[in-house]
Amino acid sequence: NKQVVLRDYVSGFPKESDMDIVEGTIELKVPEGYNDVLLKNLYLSCDPYMVALMRDIGPEGFQNYTPGSPLTGYGVSKVIESGHPNYKKGDLVWGFTKWEEFSLVSPTLLFKIEHTDVPLSYYTGILGMPGMTAYAGFFELGSPKNGENVFVSAASGAVGQLVGQFAKLTGCYVVGSAGSKEKVDLLKNKLGFDEAFNYKEESDLDATLKRYFPEGIDIYFENVGGKTLDAVLLNMRVHGRIPVCGMVSQYNLTQPESVTNLAHIIFKRVLMQGFIVNDFYHLYPKFLEFLLPHIREGKVVYVEDRDEGLENGPAALVGLYSGRNVGKQVLVVARD
Ligand code: NDP
Repeated sequence: NKQVVLRDYVSGFPKESDMDIVEGTIELKVPEGYNDVLLKNLYLSCDPYMVALMRDIGPEGFQNYTPGSPLTGYGVSKVIESGHPNYKKGDLVWGFTKWEEFSLVSPTLLFKIEHTDVPLSYYTGILGMPGMTAYAGFFELGSPKNGENVFVSAASGAVGQLVGQFAKLTGCYVVGSAGSKEKVDLLKNKLGFDEAFNYKEESDLDATLKRYFPEGIDIYFENVGGKTLDAVLLNMRVHGRIPVCGMVSQYNLTQPESVTNLAHIIFKRVLMQGFIVNDFYHLYPKFLEFLLPHIREGKVVYVEDRDEGLENGPAALVGLYSGRNVGKQVLVVARD
């Protein structure tokens, strides 16, 4: 049972060498009397939050990784054997699993996959956790209205590409920022953003935002934090909203950058609110009902970046922090 295990706790930026590929053993059987399910992992999701679990002190309320044990995370898997009445051999599921070929897990955070006319890997992205994140953050916290001005950072990634498309479906004007020309082209030509720019080439982000938003920003979907957030705060409109989804530019810094323009949220009456997707899974059926028809009709598209094999997992994961991924980073472990 090939596994990706944490070698030791990580400080600063993670490196491929912080993880080892090892051959573990697993009995392909659910132990007598257990409610667990035995999974064959097909697709694993590489997500920016995972580095936080590699630290010796993880975020409050989350279980950090243990050196010598496989990473855990979201994935798409097939049930090989089940000790739980709600699951049976052959079921396809998405949810929490481990970075290995086969996993024995408790099915507390597993969703059964009912719709298989879309690529199964979509359940690591558009139809899984990142999709729910974009949906909950944009619609529940952003409260968007037709005609509003929306700005999205890390816009070509797993979450951002959907926020932009949801904004267009709502009749908003949407601009995205991303870290390469290839990503900017993708945003404008495939993902339907009105405008996009490469933040690495902009020396004065405040001026850049004023150029794209002469009347200001109604909704800023925050994925990166740092300098981008600071410039956005100078450009929010009265009663603007900032759903704070993530701050990927800050996760690996030993000294986080300071944000100096926070007081602007007072005068502009801006609502800035952090959220965690786990609090919104009760909306999953409604989300599927909304999104599946759009996917089937080609009105919402999804860009994935796939790597094959657990041995390529560490590079795929670390690549999230240098922007190597173009679209949702997926690790293909097996196809069925
Ligand atoms: P992405 O697919 O967007 O991948 C990460 C991207 O972040 C990279 O491709 C890179 O794109 C960008 N990035 C990396 N370093 C920096 C940096 N220093 N400055 C600016 N951009 C950087 O990831 P996701 O879509 O999965 O996640 C987006 C955000 O949403 C993250 O902050 C994540 O933690 C958060 N999140 C929060 C959830 C919640 O429940 N609150 C759930 C899921 C995700 P580029 O080339 O454009 O720089």
